[in-house]
Amino acid sequence: MSKRDYYEVLGLSKGASADEIKKAYRTKVKELHPDRNSDNPNAEAQFKEVGEAYDVLKDGDKKAAYDRYGHSAFEGGMGGGGRGPGGMGGQGDFGSAFSDIFDDLFGNMGGGRAGGQNRAQRGNDLRYNLRVTLEDAYAGLAKTITVPTSVGCGSCNGTGAEGGSEPQTCPTCSGMGKVRAQQGFFTVERTCPTCNGMGQTIKDPCHTCHGAGRVEKEKSLSVNIPAGVETGTRIRLAGEGEAGMRGGPTGDLYIFIEVRDHELFEREGNHLFCRVPVSMTTAAMGGDIEVPTIDGGRSRVKIPAGSQSGRQMRLRAKGMPALRGGGPGDMFIEMAVETPVNLTTRQKELLREFEELSVENNPQSSTFFKSVKSFWESMKG
Ligand SMILES: [Zn+2]
Ligand SMILES: [Zn+2]
Repeated sequence: MSKRDYYEVLGLSKGASADEIKKAYRTKVKELHPDRNSDNPNAEAQFKEVGEAYDVLKDGDKKAAYDRYGHSAFEGGMGGGGRGPGGMGGQGDFGSAFSDIFDDLFGNMGGGRAGGQNRAQRGNDLRYNLRVTLEDAYAGLAKTITVPTSVGCGSCNGTGAEGGSEPQTCPTCSGMGKVRAQQGFFTVERTCPTCNGMGQTIKDPCHTCHGAGRVEKEKSLSVNIPAGVETGTRIRLAGEGEAGMRGGPTGDLYIFIEVRDHELFEREGNHLFCRVPVSMTTAAMGGDIEVPTIDGGRSRVKIPAGSQSGRQMRLRAKGMPALRGGGPGDMFIEMAVETPVNLTTRQKELLREFEELSVENNPQSSTFFKSVKSFWESMKG
């Protein structure tokens, strides 16, 4: 059987948004629930297919690769064909969103995450949300974060057994961690109730960790946030997630960056935009203004005579650094010409005089009025 297109599997057309993909996925999973499909022999295979499609399409990078290269993007096993209900890894960020939704819908059946024979279970990945200022995103920063997590138990070296005693193979599931039950056409695997999926029982559990092999603890970590991060940047700290159960491998920690809005600068990719007020006289006659830059400094900008409101000027390389190579972005100044207010009698006099002189020689208005005149004439005809 040739592999079906992932979008087709989810009933979507190419280029569907992340929201559409998630929604379609949830709908499909509900449709294919074993309880509703005891008369559909294909449901289980379809269910797996849907899970595999979602695993790829929910991930921005994988989706991009898939959109470009199709299934061949993942030849070599990355697509994870075997991640059906039974063998769901729940490991790394690859399977976890899938498992989360799966847990929502299937309750304890999702306990399949425990994953059969691997009695040493991998620890969960952790997510840490970090809000930074735009200045920090510009310069990068070193930060110490405190993460509530679990670490390997020192008393039993992570085995969960007290005083050098050995864990025993679970008699209920013979070490599989799962028991099977028939439900319609499906064989449903459930987590073994005796050992909670561990595949082993401990006669004499460690007094410190009560047999889990790990204990809750707050962990302090120094992290380097590189210059150029933006909202949505994800930094992976391998092996800094939760400790595994009974000596299993440690999960990873993902730092999700959110960059706060800035009072002065708006960011678009690596470019920065800044609206700068310019007095009417400077705009008319030209002059220098001083503008702030994201590094905390200032730049002098020459305003050409006769500049209009909305005119943009570019300061090369004064934007944000590029996170992954390449030069920095630029900074764009947008002029906002200010109309003077609270005029004195003398100022009004001068402006009236100015007005009388400028009726004939203001290039902007004369072009405009010429157009208006020809517009009116064309309407008459
Ligand atoms: Zn212990
Ligand atoms: Zn068992």
